Amino acid sequence: MDHVGRPLLICLFLLLLWLQWRFPLRRQHFKVLHRLVRNFVLSIPGFAVVRLAMLPIPIAIAVWAQHRHVGLLNWVALPSWVAGIAAFLLMDYAYWWWHWANHMIPLFWRFHNVHHTDLDLDVSTAARFHFGEMIFSIGFLSLAVIVFGIAPVTLVAFFITLEAAILFHHSNWRLPIKVERILNLIIVTPRMHGIHHSIVQRETNSNWGTIFFWWDKLHRTLRRDVPQDAVTIGVAAYREEHELTVAKLLALPFRKQRSWRLPNGELPERAIQPADRLAE
Ligand SMILES: [Zn+2]
Repeated sequence: MDHVGRPLLICLFLLLLWLQWRFPLRRQHFKVLHRLVRNFVLSIPGFAVVRLAMLPIPIAIAVWAQHRHVGLLNWVALPSWVAGIAAFLLMDYAYWWWHWANHMIPLFWRFHNVHHTDLDLDVSTAARFHFGEMIFSIGFLSLAVIVFGIAPVTLVAFFITLEAAILFHHSNWRLPIKVERILNLIIVTPRMHGIHHSIVQRETNSNWGTIFFWWDKLHRTLRRDVPQDAVTIGVAAYREEHELTVAKLLALPFRKQRSWRLPNGELPERAIQPADRLAE
């Protein structure tokens, strides 16, 4: 992870930063540099948790599970490449449920809310996670590794792929619509994930996928009928930039949570526009 994964992810981040600057998808409301600094300062404790615990603990568990022959993929004898594919699919599907739980379980939402309060969506949003969410996910990841019996090397490869997918689908890169439609037959794309960051709650409660798009298809939570210029990014009740400083965001999970309404008390709605939709 340190020698291959991190340099690779930094290169991808810089590439997407350039691509979204050169070919922007949604109109941005705030200065890029300001957002980059805020999202990165906020993410520093999260990065520390990932490096010191969120990676080492599940990897240590994966090593233990392999030695002790524990977990689904250690019980069934599969060719190694089949086991690798199965591990990716199982882990990504588990992440679909984990993301769902982060929205549906009030304790988890307190922390995941911080990620969604970003008022613009771009590649820096991919780093904007409260460290509390990272701490919770250690438990989830460890459990998934034990149940599925994920091999250590597969886990590291999955983690790099997962991070790359998160960078990609948060980016504000306008891919040609035809190219994105083809990519979206397999993976989660920027337009698809943009809808998940809408202030309209039924749109946020869709598109929970991280790497592969088809889990949302399976659960009928796929929504691709919203054009990006009709999406207002953020959380309805948290629309004021001065309430979203690094210090206030770190404290947000521990404060009383507001219900999903605009500051004026209205429920956010949106008129459906026909243009630039990813699909029906
Ligand atoms: Zn979410």
